[in-house]
Amino acid sequence: MNLDADVAVIGLGAWGSAALWQLAARGVSVLGVEQFQPGHAHGSSHGTTRMFRTACLEHTGLVPLAQRSLTLWHELENAAGRPLFDPTGGLLMGPADGHVVSGTIDAARTHGIPVEVLDNTALAQRFPAHANLPAGHVGVWEPTAGLLAAEDTVRAAVEVAQRFGAKVFTGTRVTEIDLVADGVVVRTPARDLRVRQVVVTTGPWATKLVPGLPLDPVRMPMTWFRPTGDAEPFALKNFPVFIRELGHDGAIWGHGWSDGETHDVKLGLEDGGRDFRSIDPDHAGHAVTPGDWSKLTGLLTDAVPGLTTLPTSVTTCMVTRTPDKQFLLGRPGGDRRLVLGVGCGGHGFKHASGIGEALADIVLGRDTRCPLTFTDPDRFR
Ligand SMILES: Cc1cc2nc3c(=O)[nH]c(=O)nc-3n(C[C@H](O)[C@H](O)[C@H](O)COP(=O)(O)OP(=O)(O)OC[C@H]3O[C@@H](n4cnc5c(N)ncnc54)[C@H](O)[C@@H]3O)c2cc1C
Repeated sequence: MNLDADVAVIGLGAWGSAALWQLAARGVSVLGVEQFQPGHAHGSSHGTTRMFRTACLEHTGLVPLAQRSLTLWHELENAAGRPLFDPTGGLLMGPADGHVVSGTIDAARTHGIPVEVLDNTALAQRFPAHANLPAGHVGVWEPTAGLLAAEDTVRAAVEVAQRFGAKVFTGTRVTEIDLVADGVVVRTPARDLRVRQVVVTTGPWATKLVPGLPLDPVRMPMTWFRPTGDAEPFALKNFPVFIRELGHDGAIWGHGWSDGETHDVKLGLEDGGRDFRSIDPDHAGHAVTPGDWSKLTGLLTDAVPGLTTLPTSVTTCMVTRTPDKQFLLGRPGGDRRLVLGVGCGGHGFKHASGIGEALADIVLGRDTRCPLTFTDPDRFR
């Protein structure tokens, strides 16, 4: 068949934009298709910032991927000519035997990441906004943690990919992918696109193109609050990226203000999947109600006093859960025409550049630089 490119990447959020960049940078003939515009606010990759950590408490196997991703984020900054990563360091706090602290220490020990354990007195001195940790709770300081730009990172990856020759179709929804004998027909309302292989990075929309995947998209709010008094303890350098386990109440995450203007502090609930509802991504319901912040505000009064009791801003986002919270990366059933990069689990932005590289390796039939057996898309069959 006459080809439009060798490879099509469908969906240019954090993962697809990185795959497009990595494929184009290797000289692969590649096109990308996005139903909205890069950096839009309808999927999983918006909301200004994302937290980056290398001591990944979600799975020790993610640590090499995070480390590689950091190198690639710096490469993207250089290629795009603007900063995308702010190395703030980060705090992982909670009961010493809780999943946040023990998962972080386990990942750090396994991979030799230098972390520092702080008791609640030391924490209160260095980070006054976290002064009221209960007895028995500690903090782990991870110096390599930081903050990634969200929308701008996606836009930068698409821009750099285009400079390397990638063709990009925006405002174009793929309605179907047809795996045919000699490749793939990517159907859009305007025209069909013919390629040898397709990379599906459609985030919460994945099962619309590849039915039957074990994916559950959930709606998740992001909330911003303003300090009621002195804003300095909530500046990013004093209130760097953190996850704090509160015992039976789950965990909160967030970071301080950094733009010097609004002083707004971003906060959210970890693993909102326990509370937040499964959705159809085409009908996600972006209108917000008090139900989107009331559980969090109830926790903040004790956990992080000194902030407004109502959020100053709320927006919604989506997370795509898998049964084991790990990603689906690879060729389902070994199909030589189809590569999946889906199932973000709510912790996938930091890894997007490394995932883009891994997807490019898989397309090219190479071993991935970081071992990724735990993300095999066939593991639930
Ligand atoms: C509130 C919240 C906070 C988070 N915090 C963090 C964090 O601090 N650190 C971290 O590492 N991760 C975090 N995450 C997770 C992270 O944001 C996601 O893992 C990541 O954004 C996933 O990106 P994606 O490319 O898979 O999905 P998306 O960004 O949703 O991209 C999928 C893209 O595919 C497009 N698309 C879908 N279907 C089609 C189609 N048929 N045709 C064309 N285009 C299509 C969509 O429009 C979209 O652009 C958070 C997530 C949420 C919701």
